[in-house]
Amino acid sequence: MTAINQVADKVLAGLRLAGDEALALYRKAPTPLLGRLADAVRARKHPDRIVTYIIDRNVNYTNVCVAKCAFCAFYRPVGSADGYVLGFDELFHKIDETIAVGGVQLLLQGGHNPDLPLAWYEDLFRAVKERYPAFKLHALSPPEVIHLSRLSQLSVPEVLRRLIDAGLDSVPGGGAEILVDRVRKLLHCYSKASAEEWLDVMRHAHLAGLRTTATMMYGTVETDEERLEHLLKLRQLQDATGGFTAFITWSYQPSHTELGGAEATGIDYLRTLALSRIVLDNFDNLQASWVTQGGKVGQLSLAYGANDMGSVMIEENVVRAAGASYCMDEAEIVRNVEDAGFIAKRRNMHYEVLGDPVFRAIDVPRMIELATAREDGAGHIPAELSQYEARSRAGKQLRVIPN
Ligand code: SF4
Repeated sequence: MTAINQVADKVLAGLRLAGDEALALYRKAPTPLLGRLADAVRARKHPDRIVTYIIDRNVNYTNVCVAKCAFCAFYRPVGSADGYVLGFDELFHKIDETIAVGGVQLLLQGGHNPDLPLAWYEDLFRAVKERYPAFKLHALSPPEVIHLSRLSQLSVPEVLRRLIDAGLDSVPGGGAEILVDRVRKLLHCYSKASAEEWLDVMRHAHLAGLRTTATMMYGTVETDEERLEHLLKLRQLQDATGGFTAFITWSYQPSHTELGGAEATGIDYLRTLALSRIVLDNFDNLQASWVTQGGKVGQLSLAYGANDMGSVMIEENVVRAAGASYCMDEAEIVRNVEDAGFIAKRRNMHYEVLGDPVFRAIDVPRMIELATAREDGAGHIPAELSQYEARSRAGKQLRVIPN
């Protein structure tokens, strides 16, 4: 226990932990002690007791994916009757709805669809920026960028440059899972992006001037050491670039997945969150993942190192497909933040405070249910898709390219 007390003293003194010290703390420290240490780090970085959140919309533009990760319940194979691609008009409608409740950006991610070339993304981003110049696009996680690089046979920096020219504002940190190739191979996500490839996209994004987030999905097949290795790799890249704005961790959601198994417990979540806050000493912001843990554990996260409640979820498709469907609108997030003794403020993706809760200033309808990408049974193919060349046989059969 003495060793743990010495490691705890290092944390309280603001010193960086080595990997073996962090591992010992994670394995042996009582949960209340881990929480106290993480809260001390949070308080040092955020002494004003402000807890932020963003009003944005999590939109999945397609569920067609060739990657087939073993932990994913969201994707549909190419040619599936349940596969969809959203049309530009559908996306505009979602943006209108988002702006109406005070929203400032889309978090836009989707499957690796071989029938959507780079030009489709460029045209979509340009069209969004033309209609909504101030609206932000937090879009395309590193594996999607890699997919586009392979599809277009352009380098990752070139793909990023083209997307930035078209209107990309920042990159979400999805697809990181655990940044250890042994784990990625077991989860069938190594081919979509190896650990180094994921980090490399983020490195290039930071060099190109974009800010990004980082994530970790734990609770599948990784060891404690591999969970820690993931955090240390992020800390190292953050030392080099400083480009990460925030870190978000969540537990694997097993329902309807090929991998199956059981979900990690709430205590495991809080311990992992606290460990992340302690190890990631160069990250300013940690989000609470109430979308996977529920509102009550999400609120408790604020005592275990989190200083941000993430997004007011207007729409969610991926986690819901794996069995979790928690909904909190702005009023509910603010209630949870204030009840925990913090001050709730709206922010943008750069964590700049935008102001007080919108629902206190204007009449915003309560949202007690999450929207989905599409209504059930709405299986139409957007008209503009015919302008883009499909790669798959199924995609070619559905499209006619005009001369
Ligand atoms: S996690 Fe993403 S990349 Fe993997 S199968 Fe699901 S949609 Fe495809």
